[in-house]
Amino acid sequence: MERCPICRARLNETTTCRRCRAELGSAQAAEALARRLEGRAMHRLAIGDDDAAARLLRRSLRLHASPQARDLARALERRRGAGSTGGGTDVLALETGDGVKEMQLW
Ligand SMILES: [Zn+2]
Repeated sequence: MERCPICRARLNETTTCRRCRAELGSAQAAEALARRLEGRAMHRLAIGDDDAAARLLRRSLRLHASPQARDLARALERRRGAGSTGGGTDVLALETGDGVKEMQLW
C-alpha cells in the first residue's frame, strides 16, 4: 500500500497516515495476506491445479483486488471456460461486484 486509501497521501511505509491520521495497519496486513494468497494461486495455476488456484484467488480478491490478481482470475476463467461446459464465472463474480453470486460461492 503506497497511498492512503482515504486521502491518497503517500504513506512512506508507516501504518498511520500522516495527513488524515487513519490507522492502516490492519488494511496493510490484509493486503499483504492477499498478495501471499495470490502468489500461492499463481503457483497452483502453474502446476495445473486450477481448483485450488481459484479458491486462493477468491480469497485474495476478497481481501485486496490487485490488478495482478484480477488478471490472474481472468486467465484462469479463460482456461476453465475453454475446458469445461459450466461454472466458468466463479472467480470473476467477485470482481464484477455480483454480490448474490459471490455469496453462493462461499
Ligand atoms: Zn490519509
